Amino acid sequence: MFDNLSEKLDKALHVLKGHGQITEINVAETIKEVRRALLDADVNFKIAKEFTNRVKEKALGENVLTTLQPGQLMVKIVKDQLTQLMGGDAEGINLSGNPSVILMSGLQGSGKTTFSGKLASFLKNKKTKKPLLVACDVYRPAAVDQLHVVGEQVGVEVYSDKGNTDPVAIAKAGIAHAKQNGNNVVIIDTAGRLAVDEQMMKEIAEIHKAITPEETLFVVDAMTGQDAVNTAKAFNDVLNFDGVILTKLDGDTRGGAAISIKSVVDKPIKFIGTGEKMDAIDVFYPARMADRILG
Ligand code: GDP
Repeated sequence: MFDNLSEKLDKALHVLKGHGQITEINVAETIKEVRRALLDADVNFKIAKEFTNRVKEKALGENVLTTLQPGQLMVKIVKDQLTQLMGGDAEGINLSGNPSVILMSGLQGSGKTTFSGKLASFLKNKKTKKPLLVACDVYRPAAVDQLHVVGEQVGVEVYSDKGNTDPVAIAKAGIAHAKQNGNNVVIIDTAGRLAVDEQMMKEIAEIHKAITPEETLFVVDAMTGQDAVNTAKAFNDVLNFDGVILTKLDGDTRGGAAISIKSVVDKPIKFIGTGEKMDAIDVFYPARMADRILG
């Protein structure tokens, strides 16, 4: 995960770590290298610039040049700032409702259906939760079948109504079904298009308004870099979602989406997907991710 970024940041900071005589010049050079590494990882220019400005300010404020181990201190400053940029503390999901309704949104192929299954399994393993999956894609029958397959894999019931073309009605019926059957969590998988379009946004907004979910999650493929950030913005403008799910972090992603998304939409990344299997789900801890990136 983020091997290239890790390597570049390591190189940037290595200069300081290995240097006998730390000068203003090599601190400035290090900061420049850090910015270059972020840009290479597909972090947008403004965010990378603000980030390195903050690192510079901290370095000056903590008198890096006069400390015994300036290299170590710089690593700590970069790590802290990276943690802040990715969200600070880990944030859980709101399960206060009975049932708690979780609405999944995102483009087709982002990993919504897969993640719905993973989340159902994750919550089911908590013992106190009995989730129900609801299939609200009225355009692709195959998507409904896929959710049934996923539900079977994780041992969670799936509610669907294949002839019905009204996703709001299906979502409502799914919630009613959950109430009758003692399901205390309802995960609603919705249709996605290959690109953001007006009709799709209207549909998901209507579902959102009709069911007022406790938690609206936006699922995005980390491999799509800056596009992931732009799509997040478009969905957030319409849904004001509660959190982001970053999928496919097991792939060869450069890391830009993970680093930038929080500061663009001001919503936390809550979970990450790290594979196709149902147990490839992790709670997102910004500090742990920063540790991983900086080695
Ligand atoms: P949806 O259209 O948004 O419901 O997307 P799907 O759940 O069908 O996922 C699209 C493809 O991405 C499928 O082939 C999934 O197996 C794959 N996928 C989903 N999440 C991950 C992940 O975290 N890692 C990897 N490598 N593949 C994933």
